[in-house]
Amino acid sequence: MPVLDRFRLDEKTAIVTGGNRGIGRAIAQALAEAGANIVVANRNEKSGEKAAAEIANDTDSETRAVQTDVADEDSVRAMVTATVEEFGAIDVLVNNAGVVIHEAAEEMTVDEWNRVVNINLRGTFLCSKYVGREMMESDGGSILSVSSMSAFVANYPQRQVSYNASKGGIEAFTRQLASEWAEHGIRVNTIAPGYIRTDNTDQADAVDPDIDEIWKSEMLLPDIAGPEDVAPTAVFLASDASRYMTGASIVVDGGYTVR
Ligand code: NAP
Repeated sequence: MPVLDRFRLDEKTAIVTGGNRGIGRAIAQALAEAGANIVVANRNEKSGEKAAAEIANDTDSETRAVQTDVADEDSVRAMVTATVEEFGAIDVLVNNAGVVIHEAAEEMTVDEWNRVVNINLRGTFLCSKYVGREMMESDGGSILSVSSMSAFVANYPQRQVSYNASKGGIEAFTRQLASEWAEHGIRVNTIAPGYIRTDNTDQADAVDPDIDEIWKSEMLLPDIAGPEDVAPTAVFLASDASRYMTGASIVVDGGYTVR
């Protein structure tokens, strides 16, 4: 098979949590361009519907928006059921939904801690659990979670211990799940981005006006990337092009973690 054909996702169905904006929006678009039908699963109904309509308009793929709170078990279960009813099976899950709170550890409330860990880590577990059950009933599939370089390094100058703990948890969760589900034909991997320009990084810009320059001083490549610079790696991990990879993490960070 020609190598680029191995990246195709024709007749596959992919769920992208947080597919309405930022990195998830770019991943949803890229998976659709590679041929997959897309379910956009996020909280804000209007922007989810808008993203799904735009992606359907731009590509040959079928799309659907399902309002979902990834931290809520009933909501995740309903989203997975709706996806199977619509498309028959699920081949790809992208656990992308995530939040960050910039707060010093000594000031952080338990509610703030729980909010971040529940969305980032519990959400990844819940979506993987219910999608994994469906994948076990069919031909397996590919689960990829958007972790972060923050799983491996400390961030500076912003303070964000709950975020880094949640992302470290996703990395450990991924290795263990890859081991447990290989026998079901389910591959489990992560993408660990560095700083990517989205609403998420705009939130950090409010912490320190010089933050971009501080970040860039640690990077090898010249600029802070955009969501479209992460999306091709998602197509790779979702597709047969990566069929010999599981339990792995791909860092896409402009060289930040090297220094
Ligand atoms: P973003 O622009 O702030 O978007 C966050 C996304 O998560 C939105 O689509 C949001 O949906 C969704 N979301 C939040 N809570 C949710 C919930 N409870 N249930 C369902 N969806 C929920 O963020 P981003 O920068 O694109 O980040 C996407 C992922 O990449 C996150 O996991 C983030 O940690 C990771 N990441 C980002 C960077 C970066 O520099 N940007 C770096 C490394 C890793 P609504 O609009 O409906 O709220």
